[in-house]
Amino acid sequence: MEKKIYLDNAATTKTKSEVVEVMLPYFSELYGNPSSVYEFAAQNKKALDEARLTIANAIGAESAEVYFTGGGTEADNWALIATAEAYQQKGKHIITSNIEHHAVLHTCEYLQKRGYEVTYIDVDENGVVKLDQLEKAIRPTTILISIMFANNEIGTIQPIKEIGELARKNKILFHTDAVQAFGQLDIKVDELGVDMLSASAHKLNGPKGIGFLYIRKGIKIRSFIHGGAQERGRRAGTENVPFAVGFGKAVELAISTMKERTKKETELREYLIKRVLSEIPYTRLNGHRTKRLPNNANFSFQFIEGESLLIMLDMNNICASSGSACTSGSLDPSHVLLSIGLPHEIAHGSLRLTLSEENTIEEIDYTVDKIKETVEKLRNMSPLYEDFVRRR
Ligand code: PLP
Repeated sequence: MEKKIYLDNAATTKTKSEVVEVMLPYFSELYGNPSSVYEFAAQNKKALDEARLTIANAIGAESAEVYFTGGGTEADNWALIATAEAYQQKGKHIITSNIEHHAVLHTCEYLQKRGYEVTYIDVDENGVVKLDQLEKAIRPTTILISIMFANNEIGTIQPIKEIGELARKNKILFHTDAVQAFGQLDIKVDELGVDMLSASAHKLNGPKGIGFLYIRKGIKIRSFIHGGAQERGRRAGTENVPFAVGFGKAVELAISTMKERTKKETELREYLIKRVLSEIPYTRLNGHRTKRLPNNANFSFQFIEGESLLIMLDMNNICASSGSACTSGSLDPSHVLLSIGLPHEIAHGSLRLTLSEENTIEEIDYTVDKIKETVEKLRNMSPLYEDFVRRR
């Protein structure tokens, strides 16, 4: 196929043309600083307020509870570090899971080096957090539970409402990294008992480098970036108006098209899963069979190296991933795949395909044909496979 087939929408998505269009005037003619007092700048303040309101409405929050950040990673860092600092009089214990994104895991490690204790909850073979273990991990000194909404590698959706109830019952703050889920699932913070939520624009056809942290009113979380009075004094620095406007537009589009878009993605995903599992032997689907993001399929192919498969798919114009974008290039198997119990050698042979509404059935057919061909080729070069066939 001449055309590029993009199947890595969990890494990032294409910025929609409608999004780019609304951003453009804020780079050129509407360049005022929203903090300035004159009328010219008031348009920027208004645009920022509107984008914030669109986002707040999408999650059932108030505008004053939404803080723009430089992306999902910053939102996660802020939620964890500032909560840890603000609530240290109550205790220094945090609960999270083994399968979080590194934006959470590495922040937890940072906090551990500063005297905080972190309990990492296991997941079952489908990648669902073990609720009984979570409940048992709660101590009088626990100040925060941080569990992701949906996993970026295997797509498994967590029992967020149950975790929210558990947190509330025990008077513990609950943060969720919803970077992958926001725009794909209906999320309402009050119904779910979520106190803080991180999201990022580039995962839902918005620009890269902007996200937000939702902080429920009344939570005494500290400022993260110190300086001016922007973002109600909690995240200083002149606001990125064009990106915020683009984020607002991306959210508006994602919410209004969610039902039909995710239905189409789910149908394509099911077709993809069915073909791969039925046509390629010694293959497994990673993640929960049904409680998974509409666009996520993650497979492990025995007897092959995922990296070799990726390179060969790339030569056929197919963009895919072996796990999260940050782990590609590294030879360590994914911490998520190891956490669901895969042995190293099977975790190594994994492929993540994440779809968008723009993908077609022809693209999926072409991709499955290429995967099949490549897996066969790689297996035929594998001494392990040869040995396995001989001993069968
Ligand atoms: N959290 C999750 C679950 C993610 O998938 C990602 C990005 O891949 C991030 C956080 C980081 O977001 P950003 O790229 O906006 O910093």
